[in-house]
Amino acid sequence: MPARSDTPTKYVGPEPGKLDADALRRTVPDDPIKLPKGLLACEGCGIAHDGPAILAIPRSRTYVNAKGEAVEKPIAPLEYTRCPDCTRLNDVAGGDERTRNSLYALAVVQVPAPEDPTPLVQWMGTIGGLVSWLNPGEPSAEHCNPYPWAHVSLGHRRKIKEAYLLAMRSRIDIKAAPLDLPPPWGGACLFCGIGTVPMAPLEVARRGGREYAAQMIWQGVTAQAKAFGAKGREILDGFVCPTCAEVGNREVSVSRACAKAFEEHAQRNGIRVPTDLFNLYENGHPVVVPGWASLGRITPNAEPWQHVTLVIEEDEPVPEYVA
Ligand SMILES: [Zn+2]
Ligand SMILES: [Zn+2]
Repeated sequence: MPARSDTPTKYVGPEPGKLDADALRRTVPDDPIKLPKGLLACEGCGIAHDGPAILAIPRSRTYVNAKGEAVEKPIAPLEYTRCPDCTRLNDVAGGDERTRNSLYALAVVQVPAPEDPTPLVQWMGTIGGLVSWLNPGEPSAEHCNPYPWAHVSLGHRRKIKEAYLLAMRSRIDIKAAPLDLPPPWGGACLFCGIGTVPMAPLEVARRGGREYAAQMIWQGVTAQAKAFGAKGREILDGFVCPTCAEVGNREVSVSRACAKAFEEHAQRNGIRVPTDLFNLYENGHPVVVPGWASLGRITPNAEPWQHVTLVIEEDEPVPEYVA
């Protein structure tokens, strides 16, 4: 299609001075301000409003009486209101908490509430549960937000956008490919060396995004380098994949878990290993199967335990172990 003569051929930014500083400011977090007298904070977006209290959190104070006993005395409850914008979202949600939380999350990243939010809830409900101003564990009596959602951190804003993006993508392709989740740090499973664990996009969203999903699926492990078959007493800390973690949780030490994880991998995949290798363990010999962590590498293995199986294949026939 030929470009119309009045179609601009390149992007022209807003005229200087026309940038809406206030709108920009609302896309990033800010510190709370003192709650003005006579107003209540909105339980959702956190701004001060003169609406009625819609919920109250009971409070008490502990003091020591004349007999020296600690006594708990109830004090005035903490009250919250709901501003007109959040009330409208609550109405769209029909009062359902998970739906309301999902709409709150969308409001944080300035996405208007869809007519029917139901399909979004399974994607946005988890991260949505973390965005409202009201945090029952840490209620605030004296503060409110300077503008709606100012308390929501950049990290949470990123996770909301991620969940929304995954939800949108799933509408285009219902069988969306699984997402590859690397460990939170370290680059690969410290035992078998795989670099990512696949997870269905919906499962990722249900766990609150990639970062939380990775923290849940990868299991942290800390041990001296020698437990992974490397030299030295230096402490290595990182993560093991779910397959290796499952073995590890049955074993008493990291070095044993590493050996056992390899043994089970070898059995599952018909890999020949020196027959005595694992019997030695049962007889109390400190056999160490080198974990990926012992290689001091950054790149993960293409296949689990590749750093061990390649050596075994190259060395055929497998030499007998001589005690
Ligand atoms: Zn509000
Ligand atoms: Zn592993």
